[in-house]
Amino acid sequence: MYNPMRFSWWRNFPLFFFLLVGASQVPAVGLSPLLHVFTPLPSSGLNQRPCLPTPNKELLDDNILKFAATTITNEQYGMPGWTRGQGSRFHKGVDIQPVQVERGRGTVRIDYYDAKAGRGFYRREPVLIPKDEIYSILDGTVVVANNNEKRSGYGRYVMIEHRFENGSRFVSMYAHLNELTVSEGTPVKAGQRIGWMGGSSSKAGARNYLKAIPHCHFEVGRVIDQNFAGTRRARALYPPMLGGKYDPRNIQPYNPVEFLQTYRAVPRPAVLAANLD
Ligand SMILES: [Zn+2]
Repeated sequence: MYNPMRFSWWRNFPLFFFLLVGASQVPAVGLSPLLHVFTPLPSSGLNQRPCLPTPNKELLDDNILKFAATTITNEQYGMPGWTRGQGSRFHKGVDIQPVQVERGRGTVRIDYYDAKAGRGFYRREPVLIPKDEIYSILDGTVVVANNNEKRSGYGRYVMIEHRFENGSRFVSMYAHLNELTVSEGTPVKAGQRIGWMGGSSSKAGARNYLKAIPHCHFEVGRVIDQNFAGTRRARALYPPMLGGKYDPRNIQPYNPVEFLQTYRAVPRPAVLAANLD
């Protein structure tokens, strides 16, 4: 029988190994399977053309490898839908590459896995600091403006609520920002600057990675459970729930690349830059 007084660290080594290495890869128990599949876009459209979320316009030329972040071993790295952690995590967003970076100080060690050779290796890579602005894709209202990097693996992020033509609501999310320029409850216009790209995350590993492969994690989705905030499941979340029903773990994703392409996203018009910043 299990006796907590005689708990042996050595006998429980597999447990500790799991907690150290595996736990961060396992989805929280009880979270919706809807988080692991893209939901089809509704037949009802939008009543305005969306703007691209950053100055990166490569998507308009179908140049996806210059729009989404890539690594030396995985050119699909920043794409939506691929799984990380040996298939246990579903990438809900698209990681958009910056178009303006400054060289930071020093280098950072990045661990890679060579799938062909079946072995891991590491490289020291230059530190890159992204300088891109981040824009709201549509008119909407800021529902989450998280300025506390430690509260989420997404770091400092903004979530904005919008409406489809038929009135149903959905959200867009812009993560790992350096700085936010809007606050919760603020109405925003399509193309309005809402912050600056950065490398924030509560997870040291993610911050490290973002130094070498900077990007904005951009997501579009809809609230799964309107009463999420009151559920036991939500109260048991770790890191703790953030934004009530707008917690990212209660957002079922649309494919963000498909979203921008279907609704024919345009670059942020120059006139907006003059009026909204
Ligand atoms: Zn991402």
